[in-house]
Amino acid sequence: MRDQRYDILFEPMKIGPVTAKNRFYQVPHCNGGGYRDPSAAAAMRGIKAEGGWGVIFTEQCEMHHTSEITPFIELRLWEDKDIPQLRKMAEKMKAHGALAGIQLAYSGINGPNLYSKEVPLAVSAMPIRTFTNDPVQARALDKTDIRNLRRWFVNAARRSSEAGFDVICLYGAHGFGIFQHFLSRATNRRSDEYGGSLENRSRFVREVIADLRDTVGDTMALTLRVSLDETIGDLGFSNAEVRDFIEMNRDLPDLWDLAQGTWEDCSGPSRFKEEAAQEQLVRGIHELTDRPIVGVGRFTSPDVMARMIRTGTLDFIGCARPSIADPFLPKKIEEGRIEDIRECIGCNICITGDMTMSISRCTQNPTFMEEWRKGWHPEKMNARGQSANVLVVGAGPAGLEATRALSERGYDVALAEAGTVLGGRVARERLLPGLSAWGRVADYREYQISQKPNVETYFDSELDADAILEFGFENVCIATGATWRRDGVSRQHVVPFPIDAAMPVCTPDDIMAGQRPTGRVVIYDDDHYYMGGVLAELLVQEGCDVTIITPSAYLSDWTVNTLEQHAIHRKLARMGVNIVLNRGVVEIGEGHVVSDCSYTGSTQDFACDAVVMVASRLETNGLYLDLKAREADWADAGIKSVRIIGDANAPGPIAWATYAGHRYARELDGEDIGDALPFRREITELAAE
Ligand code: ADP
Ligand code: SF4
Repeated sequence: MRDQRYDILFEPMKIGPVTAKNRFYQVPHCNGGGYRDPSAAAAMRGIKAEGGWGVIFTEQCEMHHTSEITPFIELRLWEDKDIPQLRKMAEKMKAHGALAGIQLAYSGINGPNLYSKEVPLAVSAMPIRTFTNDPVQARALDKTDIRNLRRWFVNAARRSSEAGFDVICLYGAHGFGIFQHFLSRATNRRSDEYGGSLENRSRFVREVIADLRDTVGDTMALTLRVSLDETIGDLGFSNAEVRDFIEMNRDLPDLWDLAQGTWEDCSGPSRFKEEAAQEQLVRGIHELTDRPIVGVGRFTSPDVMARMIRTGTLDFIGCARPSIADPFLPKKIEEGRIEDIRECIGCNICITGDMTMSISRCTQNPTFMEEWRKGWHPEKMNARGQSANVLVVGAGPAGLEATRALSERGYDVALAEAGTVLGGRVARERLLPGLSAWGRVADYREYQISQKPNVETYFDSELDADAILEFGFENVCIATGATWRRDGVSRQHVVPFPIDAAMPVCTPDDIMAGQRPTGRVVIYDDDHYYMGGVLAELLVQEGCDVTIITPSAYLSDWTVNTLEQHAIHRKLARMGVNIVLNRGVVEIGEGHVVSDCSYTGSTQDFACDAVVMVASRLETNGLYLDLKAREADWADAGIKSVRIIGDANAPGPIAWATYAGHRYARELDGEDIGDALPFRREITELAAE
């Protein structure tokens, strides 16, 4: 049963005319599906409803076609035709007594309108601010435009009401919503009654909220999402000004939804931000208003959550990523199953689904965004098929997730691991600077497996094909992982390049195994995700003089998608790492590397004592290939299937491995679907002509 310490999290609370059943508030979050995958997005929200959230929000919903953020895929409420897909989502949200919320976004200075081809409208005329620096400028809203915009908000609120939502959130946070653009002197350079003093800059939001109160205010709650600090110094909407604004407008919305700063701050990865990182910024705001407050902080600990409420810092616990990693977080706290919480690791892989406009994944919860596409439920597995047992070889993220999910299905599982700990790459990477929270991938699964009577784990068990054929398990799942290449083959080089044997060269695996280069170290990063930057940090901490060379124009290029790229570059630059961009490495000599310009090919030597090769990884698939070569012996050994999954199959981020493990477990003994698509998909309905 529930621990009394957490009772406070389950007290109902009024938000204007509606009441939330508890304090668990799923704040708006993107999912890479949006209007393109409406049923997938709706089903995902529905799972949160089942998991016990008191308030569940959509992602940002573009409320008018004159402000859209193509190529990013969110929701749209441009005309009545959009209502049915939003109604479907609202119904799913409300199925278990949660309040359904919609976030209305007018992007202003952030909307390049690449799709609608409308001239962007902003508070002041300025270049559009996007991740991609689109060569487009916005014109300033004139008084007629402002009247129109107020009416568009009223129209959108009416449509939201018709779609069945209980709460409207007006988006003015992360630098992204028009309300922040009015409030901040950085984006509001107007000289009329909407610019200048804070009172004037607050006028637009006061007008819109008054309009919406007249339209839907007696049945729907109206919340305002602003950032606690724009984090651009005095010119921006600073924490001090946010406090003045709230004090000046104490009762303006029915609830204050306080995000952190930019999206990068608010969704800060665990590498750079702790749980409850915004506490100082939000503390004391409660005394300035009579309205409830929701705030975020990658909350996964019920003790921290309860403290936030008990100390009067927050009234609602806002969660985006923790609700993705574990949609059943509230229910688990309610049922006293704290140890079953699948804690978010703060890797921001979920955000990459939005940034790459694909569809989101979650490292911890492989069922995220597959609730409708594949019918996967985060807490329920399908029943066991005809066979009885499985041997899983390798206890990295893929093998662990396969083992956990297979045991849920009721299979007897033997997990064989060559080493002495569970976790594979995660057991090693969690020891690197900033990555300790990633260990939760292993910890969660290790605990779950330990509770299962039908799993046996064997350490120090490096298996070969002979051993496996002798054991006679019906199904064999090979999850033996991958190793970093030493020869530099990756993207710049498709074949090995010259390396002088006199130069010490180590791979990330060597470093994680305890080996250390000394003196002047060149890290050659042709991987472009986090590893090169993390090792630079480690080696500087240990006294090396580090140069990192990458053929890309950005350090840790792909981390643009996890919102960490700026933080990584800033940190390494401040640590004194010599960051060399747009250059590769073509030769490693004795005492130096020869680097080439990515554009001109002109070369330059960098003197060094050691090289760290962060290139690509080689799949450890020897065991699988040996078994395949002996397929003729399988039947005698009682083997029905042998599959290879995760990094052993094709190396990728950890989320790819947990997904592969989960998929293996779901599909074992399943029917052969032949050439059919392995997931459901929605196609836009063709117009009559
Ligand atoms: P993934 O990310 O795909 O899960 P990892 O590299 O994290 O892959 O984990 C692979 C695990 O498999 C490692 O813990 C490794 O020790 C183990 N392993 C590799 N080869 C064998 C083998 N032949 N027998 C048993 N375990 C193995
Ligand atoms: Fe958390 Fe990573 Fe999952 Fe996102 S992908 S919810 S950051 S574990």
